[in-house]
Amino acid sequence: MKFRNFKMVDYVIFGRGAFNQLGEIIAPHRKGDAPMIFFIDYHFEGNPAFAARVPLQGKDKIVYIDVTDEPKTKVVDALRDQLVAEFGTVSGIIGVGGGSVMDMAKAVSLMMNNPGSSADYQGWDLVKFPGVYKVGIPTISGTGAEVSRTCVLTGPTRKLGMNSDFTPFDQIVLDPELVRGVNKDQMFYTAMDCYIHCIESLQGTYLNAFSQSYGEKALVLCQEIFLQKEKWDDDADDKLMMASYAGGMSIAYSQVGVAHAVSYGLAYLLGTKHGIGNCIVFDKLEEFYPEGVKEFKQMVKKHNITIPQGITKGLSNADFDKMIDVSLGMAPLWENALGKDWKTIMTRERLRKLYEQL
Ligand code: NAD
Ligand code: ZN
Repeated sequence: MKFRNFKMVDYVIFGRGAFNQLGEIIAPHRKGDAPMIFFIDYHFEGNPAFAARVPLQGKDKIVYIDVTDEPKTKVVDALRDQLVAEFGTVSGIIGVGGGSVMDMAKAVSLMMNNPGSSADYQGWDLVKFPGVYKVGIPTISGTGAEVSRTCVLTGPTRKLGMNSDFTPFDQIVLDPELVRGVNKDQMFYTAMDCYIHCIESLQGTYLNAFSQSYGEKALVLCQEIFLQKEKWDDDADDKLMMASYAGGMSIAYSQVGVAHAVSYGLAYLLGTKHGIGNCIVFDKLEEFYPEGVKEFKQMVKKHNITIPQGITKGLSNADFDKMIDVSLGMAPLWENALGKDWKTIMTRERLRKLYEQL
């Protein structure tokens, strides 16, 4: 047995208003007059009060990131090319946003120091050189992208992360004040990404005490926030941010499972976003995760959330085949969920039936 020796985030700051310390945190990482580049979720564009809080100096620049689509390799490459053309080199990249912006920040940081296209590095341990200094600052909680060793990208042939020891952030800033303003449905979908990470990790065959310790804590936090609390409050935002962190730590040392494997197919073919896609799939997974799906449905009901139905209606055989190919390509996820014999359990026919229910 060979154990994974995994790289973690170097520095973590947590607290309401922690974002105000960003200037002093990044100061030691400035290299001469090479700028810090702030990738900020486009939700904050046209918000002068927020822009004024960004600790800009010298040639520093804010780039607002449109997250209508989840990160694509060609967008990552284009951003890298623009930064190289404009500045030659940069001191660092700071991603302020949800999973999409944080992943974009990780990817562009890596691509500043690795030749070619980010599509060449989709996979495991293909990245050759450390990226530039990178900071992740979540403004919506759930994905765990702030702690993970991947950044998920859609490339010409697949949706797959750049998984490597160079991928985790050097620094993360967890400031629950930043999540204020996320709309209720989006907040729920992204939060359920965390809930589903916990269920898939805790029910998986890869489970170990490391993953279990984080997964159980994140699960209890989700249950408290979404089932026990009568009213949403600051405490809920604080705890959801820590649930996301712990949920991310849980899967870092295990794997996700059926909902993620199936939702990757939806994302590839239909562009379905990660959070909502996982909810659409998880809603139909009673046979794999009976307890978790029951509880999920309670949360959906209590928070009056609509889970879209019928999204694969009218798709062609070729479309279903494409989704099945993408999904079955995620071998570690299936193995974690169903064990070593997963191929005999999750046949193409069974997976097709599952996709038809969505
Ligand atoms: P997201 O980043 O796509 O953001 C969702 C929406 O919330 C966007 O419209 C955004 O503008 C808005 N938003 C963000 N912060 C806001 C705020 N404070 N107020 C109002 N609106 C705000 O969504 P997400 O669910 O956080 O991330 C999904 C992405 O994360 C996917 O690309 C997925 O592949 C990736 N992901 C990565 C990992 C990883 O380990 N790297 C894990 C899970 C998911
Ligand atoms: Zn996820």
